[in-house]
Amino acid sequence: MSRPDATIAAEAQRILGRLGVARDRFEAGTLAVWSPITGEPIGRVVETAAVAVPEAIARAHAAFLRWRLVPAPRRGELVRLLGEELRAEKQALGRLVTLEVGKVVSEGLGEVQEMIDICDFAVGLSRQLHGLVLPSERPDHKLTEQWHPAGVVGIISAFNFPVAVWSWNAALALVCGDPLVWKPSEKAPLTALAVDALMRRAAARFGDDAPDGLATVLIGGQEVGEALVDDPRVPVVSATGSTRMGRAVGERLARRFAKPILELGGNNASIVTPSADLDLTLRAVAFAAMGTAGQRCTTLRRLMVHDDVYETLVGRLVAVYRTISVGSPVAGDALVGPLIDGTAFAAMGKALDAARAAGGTVHGGERVDVNGAASFYVRPALVEMPGQVGPVAEETFAPILYVLRYRDLEQAIALQNGVPQGLSSSIFGNDLREVERYLSAAGSDCGIANVNMGPSGAEIGGAFGGEKETGGGRESGSDAWRGYMRRQTNAINYGRTLPLAQGVTFEV
Ligand code: NAD
Repeated sequence: MSRPDATIAAEAQRILGRLGVARDRFEAGTLAVWSPITGEPIGRVVETAAVAVPEAIARAHAAFLRWRLVPAPRRGELVRLLGEELRAEKQALGRLVTLEVGKVVSEGLGEVQEMIDICDFAVGLSRQLHGLVLPSERPDHKLTEQWHPAGVVGIISAFNFPVAVWSWNAALALVCGDPLVWKPSEKAPLTALAVDALMRRAAARFGDDAPDGLATVLIGGQEVGEALVDDPRVPVVSATGSTRMGRAVGERLARRFAKPILELGGNNASIVTPSADLDLTLRAVAFAAMGTAGQRCTTLRRLMVHDDVYETLVGRLVAVYRTISVGSPVAGDALVGPLIDGTAFAAMGKALDAARAAGGTVHGGERVDVNGAASFYVRPALVEMPGQVGPVAEETFAPILYVLRYRDLEQAIALQNGVPQGLSSSIFGNDLREVERYLSAAGSDCGIANVNMGPSGAEIGGAFGGEKETGGGRESGSDAWRGYMRRQTNAINYGRTLPLAQGVTFEV
């Protein structure tokens, strides 16, 4: 044991107190929270009753009626203040992310940095929510397009980015004129309460323009999520999590014609071509496949390696897998922390058994005893597979990297694209023809396609999301803001006659 159990719970509670979360919200509730670092309980959070959800949404809707009238650059000021609060508490909130979901320290801090970055982005965006002026076919007419606030935005988030996902949505939605109702993962409610407290601080500094009900957190599981998804006063729902969850949520939203932003599972691949810089590739693959203990939606899960470099690269990778440091994120400087829970550990074991049964050779993958039986640490697994068979086409949310051989690029691209998910991907190589082929319409079918880096670790400046069973949503940078607004086309006649479009005549 690297630390006495009481220490993690005490530290988590100290941070919550420092950030201004009332003790009764995390001490006396019915939702138990465990730290994956030791498996110890670190809080008991008060859950939101499903019947309380409509009341919260009613408050958010009332807030919308006021917030939509606040000028967008002024709305940006609230997000600027939120960014300041996050900067001031980066260490505390990053640490809480580590304690609650087990990320290593630099990744916990990185998650908060991502929140700060998207706030900065959104502040600038608040002066750029632009429409279009289009040529009208009629004389003395103007044709324009403008964007209006959409309404209450529901946010459902996963455990593995417990706070950053909220901010990707929240920073954009707030400048777009939309209140937020957030249902965080039931595995990570403490960090959500902490963010809620920081949001309140920012709103208090902002003043009366920030209406009551502008940002709400609902604590609970599927039932609370469904109540949010089904409410007609919520026109946009951004849901991040498994494809299973997204299918259920997507169908419900479609029934009432609400706008989905679905950010679901990935099964990300990289292709290593003969011209790749193998030193760079090795480091990139190690981070992308083992970072966050394989618990990123963009984690590298499949590696297609050209025959010419297979033995060299895979031999070196196996050595790295054998020696990578696995351990407690709060003791020492391990690069691989724990899995979130025993269910994740069981899923990993099942996938490795299936891989063996399908002819795979497994390196690593065994349990590592770091903090006793209630926590689940594993040595990441590298699995050499005879083909894309068995569990390779599924996302197992654990550090398993399936490695496949290929001979020509078309075959590698077909393998990469031959799975139901379409989130992220990358190619390693210095042959311009191969790289550009990969980025062409005939190349990667994913929402993200990188060159000479792994598929994970996106910057906030680009639109984030994926195709196929990843859900098709886009968050974060570029023009993802449009998902949080409604588009309106305006035709304006400033003449004295009434010419009809398409030359239609209708004289009365
Ligand atoms: P999960 O699907 O179990 O839960 C995600 C959230 O959905 C939780 O808040 C949960 O309470 C809620 N939920 C579950 N069923 C619901 C339903 N029927 N209606 C409404 N809400 C429901 O996912 P998880 O285990 O927390 O996270 C891991 C998964 O999330 C992986 O598949 C990973 O790839 C994915 N993920 C995707 C992205 C992305 O941007 N594409 C980012 C992070 C995680």
